[in-house]
Amino acid sequence: DAYLSAIDAANATLNAYVATTPDQARAMAAAADERLAKGEARSLEGIPLGVKDLFATEGVHTQACSHILDGFKPRYESTVTSNLWAEGAVMLGKLNMDEFAMGSSNESSYYGPVINPWRRNGSDLALVPGGSSGGSSAAVAARLCAGATATDTGGSIRQPAAFTATVGIKPTYGRCSRWGVVAYASSLDQAGPVARDVRDAAILLKSMASVDAKDTTSVDLPVPDYEAAVGRSLKGLRIGIPKEYRVDGMPAEIEALWAQGIAWAKEAGAEIVEVSLPHTKYALPAYYIVAMAEASSNLARYDGVRYGLRVPGRDIADMYEQTRAAGFGREVKRRIMIGTYVLSAGYYDAYYLQAQKVRTLIKRDFELAFEAGVDALLTPATPSAAFAINDQTLAADPVAMYLNDVFTVTVNLAGLPAISVPAGLSSEGTPLGLQLIGRPFGEETLFTAAS
Ligand code: GLN
Repeated sequence: DAYLSAIDAANATLNAYVATTPDQARAMAAAADERLAKGEARSLEGIPLGVKDLFATEGVHTQACSHILDGFKPRYESTVTSNLWAEGAVMLGKLNMDEFAMGSSNESSYYGPVINPWRRNGSDLALVPGGSSGGSSAAVAARLCAGATATDTGGSIRQPAAFTATVGIKPTYGRCSRWGVVAYASSLDQAGPVARDVRDAAILLKSMASVDAKDTTSVDLPVPDYEAAVGRSLKGLRIGIPKEYRVDGMPAEIEALWAQGIAWAKEAGAEIVEVSLPHTKYALPAYYIVAMAEASSNLARYDGVRYGLRVPGRDIADMYEQTRAAGFGREVKRRIMIGTYVLSAGYYDAYYLQAQKVRTLIKRDFELAFEAGVDALLTPATPSAAFAINDQTLAADPVAMYLNDVFTVTVNLAGLPAISVPAGLSSEGTPLGLQLIGRPFGEETLFTAAS
């Protein structure tokens, strides 16, 4: 009830939730009460969570914040949310996000932008909460849920966490099932939690992760007790500092944040080593080619026949066109067009194939660093703090928006786990995050170092 009234009070301003489920929440909470009374509590008994609108929730609003899924209520539940409910968690509602998880500011949602609960010192200017999981990060930061599900294709868990002083972890590709998660770029997408602190993130991920026969890319490895890794000593850990992440034009306060992170790791007993990941500079273009190519294919299914919106036309082809024209927003259309282009005969070799080769080189860069004995890498999470809503430079230049993801996309291309942890404030008093990148299935090391 406290969370539901907090949502009622704050959501008109923050726009973090696109749907609430008070009846379900109360029923789930009552069931949790019974279990608690009987001493049969499971690991998340009664914990109220928000769910990113990308996760299918049975009988409940699931539209990836797109108009094209208008009215869609799935008859099935995603594996990740099923896992959470099976541990006793309570669903508060569905969280706002960039349309189909495409964006870095949560401004491409059909339901309008999410407002970051943080402000700059002495200013009322509305800031973005990051994207695409902006509803998740804003809701956790504003205490409108105890934790939230999110997804990360190129940074959508870590960048919003950095912009709101929350913790977000993108697990190793395959750690969580993608079944029932609306697909953006299937070879990059991973689910993970946004939480108030590292321990909460560890507890949530433990429940979210599982192998799943319905997602053949999910991995059959035991899920470790991540919470036990929180607070362990960093002694003996080797933390790599990739020199290529010192990008041109990096603001001095991001440099300073990174130096502070290095100092903290040293103080805690870690050994700091410089490493080189020479193909880093190709990651952003390779990411945007692979992601858009996969998106153009995944989004072909929205045809007005099977789900959501249908705009009638003269014939079936016209109906497809009318539906897709009305149903997709600007950014999604841009990506479908670019994705289709890079996959088309004549351009496939020059763009898509080339990007796949670059992806292999990026993955190899990380493998070499790990083979040389590095346990984790430390970098800034983002090249800046949260920026203003409706920034005209960013609105006019989509590539400038894509540059936000410069530190986060490498990890998705390589399939690695990475966590963003609050690490300080900008000169304007807004949150900044540090990122730790781990070996495949090295989430425990990340929880240790992040805590
Ligand atoms: N900002 C990146 C993009 O727009 C990443 C989004 C995401 O991780 N879902 O593709």
